Order: sequence, then structure tokens, then C-alpha cells
Amino acid sequence: MTVKTLDAFGRHIHYLRISLTDKCNLRCVYCMPEQMIFRPSDELLSTDEFIRVLQVADSLGFNKYRLTGGEPTVHPGLVDITRAIKALPNTQAIAMTTNGLKLGKLAQPLKAAGMDRVNISIDSLDPVKFKRITRWGNVNDVLDGIAAAEHAGLLPIKLNAVVIRNFNEDDVVDLARLTLDKPWQFRFIEVMPFADVAEFQQASIVTSKEMMQRIEAELGPLREANGGVLDGEARMFQLQRADGSPALGQVGFISPVSAPFCASCNRVRLTADGTLRLCLLKDGEIDLKTPLRRGASNDDLAGMIRAAIWRKPWGHDLADGVIPMNRIMSEIGG
Ligand code: SAM
Ligand code: SF4
Repeated sequence: MTVKTLDAFGRHIHYLRISLTDKCNLRCVYCMPEQMIFRPSDELLSTDEFIRVLQVADSLGFNKYRLTGGEPTVHPGLVDITRAIKALPNTQAIAMTTNGLKLGKLAQPLKAAGMDRVNISIDSLDPVKFKRITRWGNVNDVLDGIAAAEHAGLLPIKLNAVVIRNFNEDDVVDLARLTLDKPWQFRFIEVMPFADVAEFQQASIVTSKEMMQRIEAELGPLREANGGVLDGEARMFQLQRADGSPALGQVGFISPVSAPFCASCNRVRLTADGTLRLCLLKDGEIDLKTPLRRGASNDDLAGMIRAAIWRKPWGHDLADGVIPMNRIMSEIGG
């Protein structure tokens, strides 16, 4: 019999996003300060501890996983953790969100270990703007990473851009144009406010509505796809000029600020330091690392997770000005 874990609102929670590490090889302006101080390694779950928690999640009916961070490709256990998830009885899908820099070496081993596909972040095609946003990055390395992912069969390729005022709001057109030549989906994300970076983020927001207007002004009409049903968090559209080629022109918008999607939420998050976070944009968490290190059994951990999920909040309160304060995005796993 398949186990189902529900929250108090009847939502079926079966999707776990795992921040493998808070560390990163970039310093995107909307994500973390340049002088970011990371947690000491002994505060982070080891590869074996991650695998224990994942086995418990499987026993609760979790079947969909996303590895993220920080930058998941800087974690030495990434391939082993992917293989371990693939071996769990209930697993149906494993994906990863990455900045793509290390995919040249990792795409093939990840595919062989059971990774299904990747979302790759690319906020601009312009090398100068890309560097300004990421502080340290070279956009050509990301393009090489996309090519490696495609070659390895991590399909369909999904690309993400966070759009921020005075950095890349006019790049949405060139980024969306990529989907007319390649079967790559593009998702544009509204910037969300977190803790120390909240002031910058709130001053920088560009709404999905504005992004769509900019794209339509240059590339023509966007037609709603999927009958308006969200694909993950994204509302999907197709550029009308790609008509006749269903794989082309696919553009999505993730609008946590202007159009929250809490009603369809099916996920919780595991942070690199071993807490289960119930909502991306709310501070409520439970500590799994301490009981794990004190010898809790898998049944004990399953009970804690089930009870916490029952208390998962309905949604976030960004509209009322309540901002998550205890962690930034890279520490939670976007
Ligand atoms: N390092 C990987 C990457 O950049 O793709 C994975 C981790 S990153 C935290 C996951 C996603 O969150 C990326 O698409 C990133 O652009 C996005 N992100 C980071 N900070 C954000 C913020 N303040 N608001 C919205 N999205 C954000
Ligand atoms: Fe690193 Fe991703 Fe955050 Fe950029 S968005 S600093 S790549 S974790």
C-alpha cells in the first residue's frame, strides 16, 4: 500500500527539495553577500546522514526530489546521493537546480547515477551583465554546462533567470528568444526577499506581468499553455510564433510575490544543516540533525517528519510584509 503524508489542509506532501550545501562558487547579488560566511562542515549533514533522512522520506511516500543549494555540484557526495535516491523504492523523479558551472564533468556521471534532468540558472547572455549579477561568473562556462547536460540526456533542459531591476530586466527578451531555436524551456522568477538581503531584493523586484509585457513587445504574443495548470511553480506559456513546434517557445513565470501558489504546494525542504523547513518563505523548521546524531531510529524520525508536515503552514505572508528572517535562499534551497 502506498503511504501518503498529508498536511492539515489535505495537501499531499511528496516532494522533497534538498539543499546539499550552503556553499557556492558564485555570489549572485540577489542571493548572498560577497563576503558570505558559510556554516562549519561539522554543522552540515554528512552524505550518510542525508541518505538516512532520504530513506525515511521514502517510507513516508516521498517520490520526487530536487537537489539544490547553495550550489549542489560543489558537494562531494552529489553523485552518491543521486544514486541512493534512485535506489529508493518510491522514487519517480530526481532533478537538480544548478548554476551549471561544473556540469562539464558531472553531467554524464549524474545521468548514470539516475538524475533525470536539471534546471540551470542563467540570468543574462551578456558576459558583462552576467558577471555583474553573479559577481564571479563567466556566462560561457554556463553555456558549456547546458551543452554538457543536453549531451548527457538530462532532458528537457529547463533554464531559470531571476529578474532584477537595473541588472537584467531587459534581458528577458534575449533569454526567451533562446526557446525559439532550441527545445529549452525558460522560467523567469520574481526575486523574493530574505533576511539580510531583503532590502535590496524588495527594491529590485520586477513582476511577472512586466516581464511578459517586455517579451511580448519584442517577440509577439504569449499563449497560455497547460490549460493554465501550474507546471511545478511556473505558469507556462508558448510564444505564438513557435506554433507548430510544441517543444519550442516554452516560457514560464514563477510569481511567488505577485501570485502565490500555496494552494498547490506539495513540498518541504531539507536544509544542509539538517532541518526540515515547511515553507520556503516562512521560518518554521524542525531539527532532524540533533535526534539523528543522538541515535533516533528511522521510525522516530518518520514520526517527527509526519507531525511537522501536519503543521505545515497554509502559505506565506509576503503580501502582509512578513519576510523570512532566519536564513537566506542559498541556505534553504530554492
Ligand atoms: N546554485 C544553484 C542555482 O543558482 O541554480 C541552486 C541554488 S539557487 C538558491 C536556486 C534558485 O534560486 C536559482 O534559480 C536562483 O536563481 C534562485 N534564487 C536565489 N535567490 C533568489 C531570490 N532571492 N529570489 C528568487 N529566486 C532566487
Ligand atoms: Fe550560488 Fe545559486 Fe545563490 Fe547564485 S543563486 S549565489 S549560484 S546559490
